[in-house]
Amino acid sequence: MSKFLDERYSGLAAYVPGEQPQDKKYIKLNTNESPYPPSPEVLEGVSLSEVELLRLYPDPDGSVLTRKIANYYGVDTSNVVLTNGSDDVLNFAFMAYGANGRKTYFADITYGFYKVFADLHNSQYTQIPLEADFTIDIDKFCNKDGAVFIANPNAPTGIALTLSQIEKIVSSNPDNVVVIDEAYVDFGCESAVSLVNKYNNLLVVQTYSKSRSMAGARLGYAIGSKEIIEDLQKLRYSTNPYNINRLTLVVGACAIDSQSYYDLNCKKVMEAREYTKSQLEELGFFVLDSKANFLFAESDKIQGEELYLKLKDKGILVRHFTTPRISNYNRITIGTFEQMQIFIKTLKEILEEN
Ligand SMILES: *Cc1c(COP(=O)(O)O)cnc(C)c1O
Repeated sequence: MSKFLDERYSGLAAYVPGEQPQDKKYIKLNTNESPYPPSPEVLEGVSLSEVELLRLYPDPDGSVLTRKIANYYGVDTSNVVLTNGSDDVLNFAFMAYGANGRKTYFADITYGFYKVFADLHNSQYTQIPLEADFTIDIDKFCNKDGAVFIANPNAPTGIALTLSQIEKIVSSNPDNVVVIDEAYVDFGCESAVSLVNKYNNLLVVQTYSKSRSMAGARLGYAIGSKEIIEDLQKLRYSTNPYNINRLTLVVGACAIDSQSYYDLNCKKVMEAREYTKSQLEELGFFVLDSKANFLFAESDKIQGEELYLKLKDKGILVRHFTTPRISNYNRITIGTFEQMQIFIKTLKEILEEN
């Protein structure tokens, strides 16, 4: 740290992304990416002529893609904002509704970036403890005096709330924004987008990084009331109106045209998830009920960190968190069926060696 850095950032603990080894020798089950490539339409969308057009700035409104997303979800274009991954819009939401001492609320065990954004913007935040079984008691998120952030399904637990539970939280907070982060919604959970026209305090955040196989393209979006979207557009235009590059705008639109391809991939991931869950349970693991593309599991036969290290040694990366409540767990991204068979086989070896 230099002596020039503003004091308010001196204590900031930055977000720590999952490992991204560059030698490609691992089976990567640690950052919830899709094991499948983007759709054929997306691959064809990146033509040489599109690359040549990189000399020009992208459309700051992303009009074509915005219209496609709006049509797909049955909302107006004024209900959509596009961002550089969904982290970008989560950052804007904290900036808009939780900065400078304003109160925000999120779970104690949830996406780690919420706390980082809250610190970055000097939010007065409360981390609401999950229940002992890692479920959310929705009453604890109702009637708050500040913005509420909920990942649904939650990460890293994978546990989902129903649409009626989400609606209860949204309707009980009419004077505060409720952000529902649906990064994993396509793996078996109900989206709250259908509530956007009913509640002007709801912001639904989604991403291309997981179910649409495009983590490297950095594309996210949020759907909310016209007024909320105007707030976020103001912050986006005050930060970087060109936050989405030309190629990403093109492939993002192509992906909307190949939804059946992505639906099939999600189905395969969900099947591999249920296979992996039952195999883990047979090996004596306790596995949370996941509606996401990962499982969160622990065993009393081997410690969480030890298992993470042994798997890594054998070429499989999973995600281990040192947070006390969850330090015995590992979060295992669901890959292809073949990858999950190798994972289970390797796990058996480790348990036998123990
Ligand atoms: C992966 C993830 C995101 C962010 O993804 P982007 O790649 O920035 O779109 C947001 N929220 C949760 C809960 C996630 O797991």
